[in-house]
Amino acid sequence: MQQITCSALIKHGSYINGSWQQHDNRFDVVNPSNQQLLAKIASADAADAEQAVLAADQAFAGWSAKPAAERSALLQAWYQLIMQHQDDLARLLTLEQGKPLSEAKGEIGYGAAYIQWFAEEAKRLYGDTIPAPSNDKRIIVQRQPVGVVAAITPWNFPNAMIARKAAAALAAGCTFVVKPAQQTPLSALALAELAHQAGIPPGVFNVVAGTDAKGIGEVLTRHAAVAKFSFTGSTAVGKQLLKQCADGVKRVSMELGGNAPFIVFDDADLDAAVQGLMAAKFRNAGQTCVCANRILVQRSVYQAFADKLAIAMTQLNVADGLTDGSQIGPLIDDKAVAKVTQLQQSALDGGAKLLLGGSRHSTGRQFFQPTLISDVNADMAISKEEIFGPVAALMAFDTEQQAIALANNTEYGLAAYFYSRDIGRVFRVAQALQFGMVGINEGIISNAAAPFGGVKQSGYGREGSKYGLDDYTDIKYLCLGGL
Ligand code: NAP
Repeated sequence: MQQITCSALIKHGSYINGSWQQHDNRFDVVNPSNQQLLAKIASADAADAEQAVLAADQAFAGWSAKPAAERSALLQAWYQLIMQHQDDLARLLTLEQGKPLSEAKGEIGYGAAYIQWFAEEAKRLYGDTIPAPSNDKRIIVQRQPVGVVAAITPWNFPNAMIARKAAAALAAGCTFVVKPAQQTPLSALALAELAHQAGIPPGVFNVVAGTDAKGIGEVLTRHAAVAKFSFTGSTAVGKQLLKQCADGVKRVSMELGGNAPFIVFDDADLDAAVQGLMAAKFRNAGQTCVCANRILVQRSVYQAFADKLAIAMTQLNVADGLTDGSQIGPLIDDKAVAKVTQLQQSALDGGAKLLLGGSRHSTGRQFFQPTLISDVNADMAISKEEIFGPVAALMAFDTEQQAIALANNTEYGLAAYFYSRDIGRVFRVAQALQFGMVGINEGIISNAAAPFGGVKQSGYGREGSKYGLDDYTDIKYLCLGGL
């Protein structure tokens, strides 16, 4: 932690109603790279979550009544402070999450871009006038903030998953309470410190960090003052939280798990496809919801693609995220290493072949070698579950129809990728893929201007883009009569 130059960014308790909370009950935040203790954080509980919701409820009237230009200016100030502290925020993120520093810096810029984007969108929350069925009426449609937004976020993007939600919520005029993942609370608390410095009023942005996810989650999904709940995390937990929200008929957004197909057709530029796959598969050591999970390669180019991929993978630098040139950091915990090992082993037991890697990396107990497996089939667990590790699993196909059927053969529908230079095929396949986002000759697809989100059991709602405010606003119809 001595590597963080601005010590004000290191916080040890939750941020509620503009104040930092203290508790005797503390939990450890450890560096996944070397298991060293980074900080002891005061553990907030359900009562703290309730306090945060009540503070957000009280702050709502003042915040939503501010002219959009004022909310926009405060979001801009937050954005500027984040970018000024990008290096420190990135180091903090690498320390608690493990990803390479260059990626952590990228995440801070990526998260901040949503704050900048929605600072601008706040001023464009337009309504409509609609031609009425008779001359004595006018139909006016306004968009109003839904109220208090509660959110729960995961450890794999400890900054951006919060920024993406909070930016849209605050821009729309909502107030916000978030529970970050217990493995990565430091990035969330640093964001709160900068929101405070930016002058965002008390109660508008609150962070509740604690280990009682269930208890805090009960408050955030059931409290009468919460109008909307937004979750990013696994599908299993998302389903449970969705049930909890049903009792109060809360508005809900769900950004859940994925199982992205990455299809390489025989007319693809194979070098570009390898490059795209390296980005889509190995970012964050394979721990992203949009990671290429099933790599489908047309049989005639299968061997050539596997050879090129193996060469690129051999050059990956596995090292502590703060080491210069690191490209693959540790997995988040021992459980993640065990899951990757088990998925790989069951594929090999089922007849898949190991081409590269296949075990823990000598750098440390949570590091895994970049691993390449061929001859995978659709029945194997590795094709059905999120791998969440640096393991590339190759499967061959023969025809376009077969590739589409294989790609869609999943309960998930977040991201898909394919490489082809045939314009007819590009349109046919893009249309047929049942996913919320499709990268065509592109391995990195997410940015603030684009709508991020899934279909099927990957959830619903969109983050970013001009659609991103929809989830945080209600449509109010005014019928003006007697004219
Ligand atoms: P997770 O186990 O679902 O945890 C996510 C969050 O939910 C954490 O804050 C966790 O708190 C909390 N949580 C767990 N159980 C809970 C409960 N019973 N009640 C209330 N909250 C609860 O997911 P993860 O393993 O951290 O994250 C990886 C998953 O997130 C993957 O499936 C990935 O695909 C998905 N993801 C999706 C997107 C997207 O945009 N679609 C983006 C990133 C990640 P604790 O940390 O305190 O346990």
